[in-house]
Amino acid sequence: MLAVVPPARPRKLAKVPFVELADGRLQGVVSSGSDIERVYVSSISAGTHAYQCSTNNNRPCGGLRGAPCKHLQALTDEALLQYGAVRVARYLRVDIGDGVAGGADLLARLDGQPEPASAAMVFSRFLRHLSYLELAGSTIALPELQWFPGTGATR
Ligand SMILES: [Zn+2]
Repeated sequence: MLAVVPPARPRKLAKVPFVELADGRLQGVVSSGSDIERVYVSSISAGTHAYQCSTNNNRPCGGLRGAPCKHLQALTDEALLQYGAVRVARYLRVDIGDGVAGGADLLARLDGQPEPASAAMVFSRFLRHLSYLELAGSTIALPELQWFPGTGATR
C-alpha cells in the first residue's frame, strides 16, 4: 500500500507529478519542458548515489552528460519540498551538514555515476499511484491528476 504523506510544502505537480523514496531510490517522473506528451523517469540510488534518467520508453535522457540532468535536479527539488531535506538526505545517505539550498546543491554533494536502470518499474508505480488516487477519490479535485491535460482540471 502506498503511504500518502502530506507534502511539507505545496509542490509543482505539473512539473514533477510523481516523486517517492522507495526501492532504495529517490525516484519519480518529471515532465518534459518542451513536449507535453513526454515524461522522464529519473532516479538516484541510496548509498551509491548512482543516478539515471530516461524517457518512459527507456530512451536515454540527452541531458545526462557525465552529470545529473535538469530532470534529476527537478526531481530532487521536489523531493526536498515533499519530504524535507533531512529525510531525503537520510534516505540517500548523504551528508548535508547545515542543510541544502535546493536540488542542485544536494546533487553537488553526491558522488555517484550514471548507471543504467529500467524506467518501466518506476513508471508502472506512477500509474498505480494515479489509479490508487482515483480509487480513493471523491468529488474533490486531485492535484496529481491536473498534470494530465483533458481531465477537466482547471489551473
Ligand atoms: Zn534527464
